[in-house]
Amino acid sequence: MSLVRVDALHKSFGHLEVLKGIDLKVSAGEVVSIIGRSGSGKSTFLRCLNQLEQHDSGRIEINGQVLDANSMAPALLSENVGMVFQNFNLFPHKTVGENVMLAPMIVRGEREREASRLARRMLERVGLADRFDAWPEQLSGGQQQRVAIARALAMSPKVLLCDEITSALDPELVGDVLKVLEQLARDGMTLILVTHEMSFARDVGSRVVFMHQGRIHEQGDSREVLSQPRTPELQQFLSAVR
Ligand code: ADP
Ligand code: MG
Repeated sequence: MSLVRVDALHKSFGHLEVLKGIDLKVSAGEVVSIIGRSGSGKSTFLRCLNQLEQHDSGRIEINGQVLDANSMAPALLSENVGMVFQNFNLFPHKTVGENVMLAPMIVRGEREREASRLARRMLERVGLADRFDAWPEQLSGGQQQRVAIARALAMSPKVLLCDEITSALDPELVGDVLKVLEQLARDGMTLILVTHEMSFARDVGSRVVFMHQGRIHEQGDSREVLSQPRTPELQQFLSAVR
């Protein structure tokens, strides 16, 4: 059974049709890299999976729950899907630890003590256990992004969505964030990531999905797709990013 199942997903903004029928199945433990040109609909697709955008038609099922117009309750949604963004989006006036504790306390109603214990465990997972009391601005971009990952993991989502999470980082900080993702993948976490890191997609990812003009234009085993792209559009895209 698929952990994520998307059928005929459509989404428009006004007259602009951004998603023109997306079908995708993702099994538990898969690492799916979504690639494609700017404007091809990658972020909109991830945002629909996390209900940050309401889709117009089609069906999204995650862990057996259908996301429909009535929308999933926040607690249920966040136990199914976590998301990390390009710009970290940490709360600047809360410490690192508080950032991670927030959702478990507010959404799941955990007490401060349990939430704090959980937050320490999650920060350990991303190699930042010693920064619990730091403020976000005291951390490097790469460290902030790892806190954002810890914050998402605190809700123990079944699938983690990452939207270009290394794109805003200085090159020397990218590796540490990718290492955390690699470890999560090894631990069996299901990941759907929009990325420009082709070597990561090839070496860590199981599948590559190429989006073009609001559709999945080509997809398959990551090594195969990246070394032997079949469509001219993907060939062109890959030669432009390499
Ligand atoms: P990608 O992530 O692949 O670069 P996006 O999903 O961000 O693509 O955007 C796809 C298209 O949808 C773009 O043309 C973008 O301008 C448009 N778009 C995205 N979000 C909105 C929005 N909230 N309102 C209007 N247009 C949007
Ligand atoms: Mg985007």
